[in-house]
Amino acid sequence: MNLKTDVCIVGAGPGGALLAYLLAKKNVSVILIERSKDVAKEFRGEHLNEEGEGILKHHGLFEKVERLGLLRMETLEYWENGKLFKLINPNPDIGHLGIHVPQAHLLSVIIQEAKKYSNFSLMTNTRLIDLIKDEADGFKGIKAIREDREIVIESNLVIGADGRFSTVRKKSGIDVTVRKHGYDLLWAKIPAPLNWEPSIKMALIDEMQLSLFTQTKGYIQIGWNIKEGSYSELRKQPFTPFIDKLIKAFPQVKETVQRHITSWQDFVLLDVHSNYTDTWGKAGLALIGDAVHTMTPTGAFGLNSAMKDADTLAAILTRETISNMDLVNCAAQRKKEVEKLQVIQVQKEQNFAKQFVIYS
Ligand SMILES: Cc1cc2nc3c(=O)[nH]c(=O)nc-3n(C[C@H](O)[C@H](O)[C@H](O)COP(=O)(O)OP(=O)(O)OC[C@H]3O[C@@H](n4cnc5c(N)ncnc54)[C@H](O)[C@@H]3O)c2cc1C
Repeated sequence: MNLKTDVCIVGAGPGGALLAYLLAKKNVSVILIERSKDVAKEFRGEHLNEEGEGILKHHGLFEKVERLGLLRMETLEYWENGKLFKLINPNPDIGHLGIHVPQAHLLSVIIQEAKKYSNFSLMTNTRLIDLIKDEADGFKGIKAIREDREIVIESNLVIGADGRFSTVRKKSGIDVTVRKHGYDLLWAKIPAPLNWEPSIKMALIDEMQLSLFTQTKGYIQIGWNIKEGSYSELRKQPFTPFIDKLIKAFPQVKETVQRHITSWQDFVLLDVHSNYTDTWGKAGLALIGDAVHTMTPTGAFGLNSAMKDADTLAAILTRETISNMDLVNCAAQRKKEVEKLQVIQVQKEQNFAKQFVIYS
């Protein structure tokens, strides 16, 4: 199969989907390819900060996502041995401390809106396998596989929005510098006890961060930092003493934890790293989101940064201006902002334990 489009976007995560919608709205023809059968995912960035909220509101998407379900966090709490140690309330002008938005809700709204434009098309179950170069060593399209059949998509611009292990980045020869942060992360999801208020609760266990994030539909997501590379050894240890540390920190979740987290298998491991690249694109190609700047989960910047990249790029791209110059301008602006955020993430990680010290 051979297809032609103005822009071919690889990856229907928050960055790729939002960019596709915004460009389609501007009369740019877009093909969005996604290797999964559907676009909903679990255990991904689901906390919107003010910047992400502002972008969704600006484009009239927030209310639609809210109709499907989202949850505003009312407090940020630090707990020690079952006791509330420090409480942070939201700025009254803002009214909340971030918002939980399931990626399934976010992505389905964006895709539904994009589908209103005949110049947009989504191809799921379609995996990028290669890039196509032009005579001048720039890029003019992609090759993908769908149900064992090769598809060629020619485009004026290829966008790599294919996440932290981006194939577009690798195939385009853009080097990435990976930074380890000294920890990996265990994730689990449990039903919240009755009358559980929307909150982010933190504790310090063995000098590492443990967080409980309230989610929509009555769930709590647990994010538990463990020493980098330690999980295979940890798994050899008895499970009960480990999970008892969580229960000691948050006794109010004892019953639901004991019912729903009964072995190591109930945790999902995230190998934590961040990365950055010097180049955000080449002739005919640009990277956005995790593909060009993977963030760690700290501070919930990843989802929001991917959407900001999409919003910034969409603002300068039109059918007439799909040129390298625009991409360079966009990259320069966003690169500086992302570099600052990556520094803030490291500071937050290094200073987390200080939250539990009382200064007199
Ligand atoms: C466990 C976990 C928890 C996180 N928690 C937070 C949080 O609380 N807050 C926050 O802001 N961020 C968080 N993040 C980060 C956040 O999920 C990402 O920063 C965000 O999803 C990046 O969006 P993206 O669109 O750039 O990439 P992604 O969301 O990764 O989307 C990339 C898409 O590309 C597709 N794809 C990949 N390869 C191909 C291919 N070859 N062909 C076609 N399609 C392909 C993938 O299937 C995927 O749908 C978390 C990440 C993880 C893994």
